[in-house]
Amino acid sequence: MAKKLVVQKYGGTSVENIEKIMIVAKKIISYKKKGYDVVAVVSALGDTTDELLGLASRISKVPSERELDMLISTGEQVSMALLAMAVHKLGKEAISFTGAQVGIITDTSHTKARIIAINARRIHEELKKGKIVIVAGFQGVTLAQDITTLGRGGSDTTAVALAKALKADVCEIYTDVDGVYTANPRIVKNARKLDRISYEEMLEMASLGAQVLQARSVELAGKFNIPLHVRGSFSEKQGTFITKEVNAMEDVLVSGVTLNKNEAKVTICDVPDKPGIAGRIFSQIAKNNINIDMIIQNVSRTGSTDVSFTVIASDLERALKTIRKVVKNVKAGGLTFDRGIAKVSVVGIGMRSHSGVAARMFKALAKKKINIEMISTSEIKISCVVRKKRGEEAVRALHKAFALGRK
Ligand code: ASP
Ligand code: MG
Repeated sequence: MAKKLVVQKYGGTSVENIEKIMIVAKKIISYKKKGYDVVAVVSALGDTTDELLGLASRISKVPSERELDMLISTGEQVSMALLAMAVHKLGKEAISFTGAQVGIITDTSHTKARIIAINARRIHEELKKGKIVIVAGFQGVTLAQDITTLGRGGSDTTAVALAKALKADVCEIYTDVDGVYTANPRIVKNARKLDRISYEEMLEMASLGAQVLQARSVELAGKFNIPLHVRGSFSEKQGTFITKEVNAMEDVLVSGVTLNKNEAKVTICDVPDKPGIAGRIFSQIAKNNINIDMIIQNVSRTGSTDVSFTVIASDLERALKTIRKVVKNVKAGGLTFDRGIAKVSVVGIGMRSHSGVAARMFKALAKKKINIEMISTSEIKISCVVRKKRGEEAVRALHKAFALGRK
């Protein structure tokens, strides 16, 4: 009988020091002993990636993205080698590989590359020899042999992509929390761990700032129907399963509340209110690979209007550079930006078939006198931009208004 194969991903906090790396090594070996073939994907130790980015930012606000990838991909190379040594120390065989070595081929969009193919031959060979295979998360290589990274939190995507390529039986995501919660337990004391959540909801929650999984990994898992199990690295408890929608979920109106403080608002003032202008503005922004989120255009009374949108805060400098040109181009009046915002959102597939969720959300915020600055909705989520300093309070109010807490 063919052996079962598990892909396990260990996040930065699970390998932040040698003690923890030894514990992870033991865990991996315990699966091997249970008869699994094990492929472990690791993130960089603790805050390594942030520290590396910090070094770069002391040289330039907009460093070359190719060189950024060269720099930040080193973090995972450290953890994979240390974890392999830890397994050796415990008397088992392991071998570590960079993304390039195991043929994780990506496109050329540095710092947010997409995987286009994986050649799993080398991994299969090593597994066949009985070895535990350890792979550096977050990185790949272009066809021209340039190292790329997959966006912050990209090790999750490495794990899911490998699970797909290797036809793994299980894909486990180990992290510092023991599952996916109705809200960040650090903000909401009685937040509840979810046993199950659908890909769609998790995708929204991940995009909206729940930091358990990279959104792209959830998208990929959903696309190929790979069940994910998010669980704590240092506990044996069952975590949260992320799967296709199941019927029982339909009774639930809202599954979770999220907070994202990593966005900034940009406003282009006095934009000529003529057909084609929005197209010109946003195609310039897209061309520069800047992801934007909420967009609002004011009513025009005088033939010109204000257009506001949000961008990821770390993209702001780059976005402003582009937008300054756009402002001239379309003969707009000017440009302002605001880093003091936060986005709170409620997510749930139950919203599809129930109305009144928005009203309940706005009322709960109003009761706390929290002003709503922007609103956006989709079929299964509603987001509001509020002042950053009111963000946590807003999350607590919404968590309560939708009765999400532990009973
Ligand atoms: N080390 C990378 C990051 O911090 C990738 C990851 O952790 O998944 O974003
Ligand atoms: Mg990390």
